[in-house]
Amino acid sequence: MVTHDVVLIPGDGIGPAISTAATRVLAAAGAPVSFAEHHAGLLALEANKDVLPTATLDAIRATRVALKGPCTTPVGTGFKSVNVQLRQALDLYAAVRPVRSLAGVPTRFEGVDLVVFRENTEGLYSGVENEITEGVVTSLKVCTERASTRIAHAAFTYARERGRKKVTVFHKANIMKLTDGQFIRCAKAVRDASYTDIAYEELIIDAACMRLVQDPTRFDVLLMENLYGDVVSDLCAGLVGGLGVVPGANIGTETAVFEAVHGSAPDIAGKGIANPMALLMSSVMMLNHLAETRHDPACATAATAIKTAYDRALADGAKTADLGGTLRTDAWADAVIARLP
Ligand code: ATP
Repeated sequence: MVTHDVVLIPGDGIGPAISTAATRVLAAAGAPVSFAEHHAGLLALEANKDVLPTATLDAIRATRVALKGPCTTPVGTGFKSVNVQLRQALDLYAAVRPVRSLAGVPTRFEGVDLVVFRENTEGLYSGVENEITEGVVTSLKVCTERASTRIAHAAFTYARERGRKKVTVFHKANIMKLTDGQFIRCAKAVRDASYTDIAYEELIIDAACMRLVQDPTRFDVLLMENLYGDVVSDLCAGLVGGLGVVPGANIGTETAVFEAVHGSAPDIAGKGIANPMALLMSSVMMLNHLAETRHDPACATAATAIKTAYDRALADGAKTADLGGTLRTDAWADAVIARLP
């Protein structure tokens, strides 16, 4: 059996605990991956004086796949977000975040099944800011035709390959006429040129958010620029049980980094109560990516086994505190392992 080398970045806060839980489940499922641990974030800063060491980037470039825990980003001061730096350095242009209702996690809605496609490299989220003079600061929103077109291609291709029916673009082009105007123009051009089999819709983001919380089941694939994608991803997580159950992939042309939507959750770090499910779900996305890109059915088999096991665990009431349960991080991983086929 072939074993795929994968970089593991445990990250900060709850990162190491949820990484241990997820990798334990992968090992128990016989997933054909071999992890090499590298650091980014606060641990890396202490060890190397660099939040994103070149050695970590080089390792990901070599293996082309990484599983990453969350890295803490200081608020209002300090270094530039490690997550943003990583996405830009490796040109991980598409953030893909599937959001679905889970049996055993009761929420306001049933049957939610949507995917957020977030442009991951530019927009206001890149944090290009400037102090003009004391008390006057600016933030630059960059939108290129190239980035808008390639994220649109990624979203429509994904929709077609997965049998999804509709792509909805969230925007604010009534106000940001140039930047968001270009974003929707590119999306529509891509759709009209190559994807007329997929329904297409444009919604102004404020009204779109209202509709999302009124009836998320009317949505399928959501496409938006970076900052909107950041905010809407957490909103969507809230529709299906919270940040503990929404995975993510950051996909580039050369490399892919899989990480949960949530952050390092410093409020619960070290308490042993974090939910590792979102990172485990991200690991399943990683295995499916390896199955597709390396043509290895053993990865798909492991992915299916793990997904079946955590779905069963939830349905049986095995839950961490964020979902109203009592299991600790490691006990939840044990509950999943016990349900592997
Ligand atoms: P960032 O800006 O780094 O994305 P954030 O501000 O979105 O971070 P998070 O770290 O994601 O914040 O945490 C938001 C809330 O959700 C916190 O109360 C945190 O404890 C909770 N939370 C996040 N992830 C998990 C998890 N895996 N298990 C349990 N609770 C979580």
